[in-house]
Amino acid sequence: MSKDWNTRTKLVHEGIRRSQYGEVSEAIFLTQGFAYESAEQAEARFIQSGDDEFIYARYGNPTVRMFEDRIAALEGAEDAFAMASGMAAVNAALTSLLKAGDHVVSSRALFGSCLYILEEVLTRYGVEVTFVDGTDLEQWKAAVRPDTKAVFFESLSNPTLDVIDVKAVAEIAHAMGATVIADNVFATPIFSQAIALGVDVVVYSTTKHIDGQGRCLGGVVLGTKEFIRKTLEPYAKHTGSAMSPFNAWVMLKGMETLDLRVRAQAAGAQLLAEAFKDHPKVETVLFPGLPEHPQHELARRQMGSGGTVLSLVVKGGQPAAFKFLNALEIVTISNNLGDAKSIITHPATTTHQRLSDEQKETLGIAPGLVRLSVGLEEPADLIADIKNALKVI
Ligand SMILES: *Cc1c(COP(=O)(O)O)cnc(C)c1O
Repeated sequence: MSKDWNTRTKLVHEGIRRSQYGEVSEAIFLTQGFAYESAEQAEARFIQSGDDEFIYARYGNPTVRMFEDRIAALEGAEDAFAMASGMAAVNAALTSLLKAGDHVVSSRALFGSCLYILEEVLTRYGVEVTFVDGTDLEQWKAAVRPDTKAVFFESLSNPTLDVIDVKAVAEIAHAMGATVIADNVFATPIFSQAIALGVDVVVYSTTKHIDGQGRCLGGVVLGTKEFIRKTLEPYAKHTGSAMSPFNAWVMLKGMETLDLRVRAQAAGAQLLAEAFKDHPKVETVLFPGLPEHPQHELARRQMGSGGTVLSLVVKGGQPAAFKFLNALEIVTISNNLGDAKSIITHPATTTHQRLSDEQKETLGIAPGLVRLSVGLEEPADLIADIKNALKVI
């Protein structure tokens, strides 16, 4: 569609397919199948289906396609394929590309389920995986080899908020001919410049900011037409990880307000980080929007923001962290993020529980670390709630 539209216009209008009724709000095509006018038409569509021709909802659906077109336009990607969840998207992006004997280099600081796919699933099928400290370019350089097929990282890591130098890592990977795959959830599609910085395949859990109101699971893989249609789609459509049309509709509606929400959440996160960085009960605040953060300059260049999530390390370890969480009145204890509601979690005992103490230490997941996803509440109320809860420590 219109390439010169600005972000907020794209978020509202891109990808719309209107039926003969001219509905204003996107229609939910809650159908698995599509009727053909003739046997010949069915045959032709299986050989090569056109832009507005669908076969079966596992392959594609008009509501899902509207979502795919909208997010592809936003990200500046040629094409997109929507998935049932963020993990289905991460898994398909990697598995559709790799085969036994291939080598992958990945940043170590990953969401627990991403780590499971790289450590437990891919290796079971003969893919070799080397983990590096994603913030250390020398480690990336030392790890890539001529047989490196892909590099993988979370551009902003969960929950320690390390910032990966996307452009530099992409250059190192491309020098070896490797495909760069980025899990871009924490950067959000609003602050992302992933494609422009050299990422080949961008993955989102749409469960997070894109829904943004805690309703549906979803994921999406973005890339070139060649990658999406020749590598990803054959794998995805035959292995059954399609996004439901209803969920795609929720995501379309979420995208209409995505820019407004993410910017408000990021502004809130910045205020909270500043309010608590010198608090006597807080050891450190991890947030790329603070000048104290080791990759503050990089974050500014790469995202123009510190993002919507911050982590606090409270003094007194896990017992103090638990007391603090239990004393919060507005902030909800849960493990989603990007939601309208502010959400807090204790990664060491929840999202990253599976890791050994040694792995947690390597990743900086301290016993006192809590991850706070800032919602849409008035920041002053959140600051008061957190201040009050810190008193119990
Ligand atoms: C949540 C999350 C995922 C997984 O997404 P789901 O939709 O829960 O499957 C993957 N990567 C990151 C960085 C996430 O935060």
